[in-house]
Amino acid sequence: MAKTRRKAPSKPKKPKALTLDLTQIWPQERDFMERPDRYRYVRKLIKPEGCVFCNALKAGVGLESLVLHREKLAMVVLNKFPYNSGHLLVLPTRHCGDLTLLSQEEYTALSQLLRRTVDALQKSYDCPGLNVGLNHGAVAGAGIPEHLHWHVIPRWQGDTNFFPLIAETKVLAETVEQTYNRLRPFFEEQ
Ligand SMILES: [Zn+2]
Repeated sequence: MAKTRRKAPSKPKKPKALTLDLTQIWPQERDFMERPDRYRYVRKLIKPEGCVFCNALKAGVGLESLVLHREKLAMVVLNKFPYNSGHLLVLPTRHCGDLTLLSQEEYTALSQLLRRTVDALQKSYDCPGLNVGLNHGAVAGAGIPEHLHWHVIPRWQGDTNFFPLIAETKVLAETVEQTYNRLRPFFEEQ
């Protein structure tokens, strides 16, 4: 029986290095030795001053801020450390880390923007599946627990890139810049 599988977009022939300086807004990753006795290197986020999402919001829509789309109550940001191509974050514009403290208007705006984000990813990446999820609180795995953010991650049959959370390697098909340029038209105002 013939099987048809949709696969992740093929790698660009000559990936262009991301030359933008994102250090002013976004946390940096750095390798360091956690247990010298075991020569164990781990990767740690070096966070800049303040909330990275609020800083990005202030910087406005653009590749430098990684903000793809902004509305009054909700926004879409590219994940600087994507698990897979097209990994986006949908979040409230207000600095809030507790789902139960969102107003009805904020919750509605977020739900609608989540749906719009899924639609944009399906159309631009032709992905047969997606992970949509919220890590609520630091112990649940939220990297920035003080500002709620939903992960929206395209998935393809046979992709193997989803586990850098626990493994330490990630293989990405495209740069953040390519992702931004691919998705930005889907969020431009009509
Ligand atoms: Zn914030």
